[in-house]
Amino acid sequence: EMAAVDALVDAARGDGVSEAVASSRTEPWPNDPYAAGSGVGERYASLRALLTGELNTDEVVATLSASGLRGMGGAGFPTGKKWELVAGTDDPVKYAICNADESEPGTFKDRQILADQPHLVLEGLLLGMAVVGAEQGYVFIRHEYGPEERVLRAEIDALRAAGVVGPDACGSGRRLDLEIFVSPGGYILGEETALLECMEGHRGEPRNKPPFPGNYGLHGRPTLINSVETFADVPVILQRGAQWWGEQGLGDSVGWKFFAVSGHVENPGVYCVPMGTTVRALIDLAGGVQDGKAVGAVQPGGASSNFIGPDQLDLALDFGTLAEAGTMLGSGALVVLAEGTDLLAAATNVLRFFRNESCGKCVPCRAGSTKAHTLLAGKSTLDDEQRSHVLRLEEAMRKTSICGLGQVALGPVVSVLGLDKGGAAARPQPRPNGAKEQPDR
Ligand code: NAD
Ligand code: SF4
Repeated sequence: EMAAVDALVDAARGDGVSEAVASSRTEPWPNDPYAAGSGVGERYASLRALLTGELNTDEVVATLSASGLRGMGGAGFPTGKKWELVAGTDDPVKYAICNADESEPGTFKDRQILADQPHLVLEGLLLGMAVVGAEQGYVFIRHEYGPEERVLRAEIDALRAAGVVGPDACGSGRRLDLEIFVSPGGYILGEETALLECMEGHRGEPRNKPPFPGNYGLHGRPTLINSVETFADVPVILQRGAQWWGEQGLGDSVGWKFFAVSGHVENPGVYCVPMGTTVRALIDLAGGVQDGKAVGAVQPGGASSNFIGPDQLDLALDFGTLAEAGTMLGSGALVVLAEGTDLLAAATNVLRFFRNESCGKCVPCRAGSTKAHTLLAGKSTLDDEQRSHVLRLEEAMRKTSICGLGQVALGPVVSVLGLDKGGAAARPQPRPNGAKEQPDR
């Protein structure tokens, strides 16, 4: 059983498939505003409009805010607000960075977007640079994403050749340039401040937040950081309008959303669906549970998200709905476990991943994850004393770890204990953004 769970998590993490992805697709995704097969000349229309004065920065920020776009790296911070904050800082040197270091177990949707829509990712990043006032932009990419890195480099070369980027971007007299920074490897480097430390040549450990990178980022300068999917959504919204974006979602939800679906489903892969699609509908789209089995439990937002039970499959995949249900949309990675799977073993395996990836900077995460793993390893059930020990460790780590890794490491385990007891009341409270619960420091 443990070996099967290990294999599931390793497969979901993408191990062993590093050369397999870049562009496997022939059909365009439904969000793309540009005609299939068009080149640099037809694409980048919003960027050209901004650089030639047809569109201004206030209009871009207002459209993003009106669209309701939120950060797709996992935390869901309002994108228009972030761009406005960085644009409003007073510094002659600023930067913009696309975080393409997705490493959350089960998460591989950014990889597909990089492979299939590099033009949207780079246009979003360039728009961000132009709006906040940055000349230099970076894509910080996971080192296992070699095929996608090559796709990006080819697109950047085409942009340079066409004069879209360079010393006189689109003939505007402004310099806009792009560089790719290949991550040296390590889950924690996807945390935005560890990423900045790494780019500065330091050990990749998270900084205390605040200050947020928007005020104090790369080399201490205001830095706009968004993830791949967030940047890719920007030109879609600018081309098609905030209203169109709003109409794409189901119910109160807005826009399109990419999901990586993995685990015990017939057709694991990347799916682009309207935000607000139910968990059940997405599992069906992925061919249902393997061998016609029932769902045992689901992590809707990657390894950091709490498990939900088979009684919660009608939940809409959206930030608010999932947070209210005690879990999160997170990194858009739906991990499905069939009935009969040892859920505690699966959750303990997730904890093992976090224990291994803890950077060790703060004691609660470093010591707590080790202690909890020692307590849980090899167990399928816990007695009351063990259970309360796990709950105390979870609370300590959630409240005192400085970054998301330590704050959520034991969440999935505790959520499984809640499912055991049968009922939402037993589940931990939502805490997708542990930082919000902490006092400023
Ligand atoms: P966070 O809430 O601290 O920050 C989210 C973003 O908003 C950051 O860019 C931050 O700088 C900005 N922000 C927040 N408050 C701000 C403020 N007051 N002023 C200005 N900017 C502000 O969350 P986080 O720790 O960056 O991310 C946590 C999420 O990461 C989790 O929800 C998880 O789903 C996700 N995650 C994703 C992956 C992946 O591979 N994609 C991996 C691990 C975790
Ligand atoms: Fe490092 Fe864990 Fe502290 Fe995050 S919570 S800074 S991963 S030790």
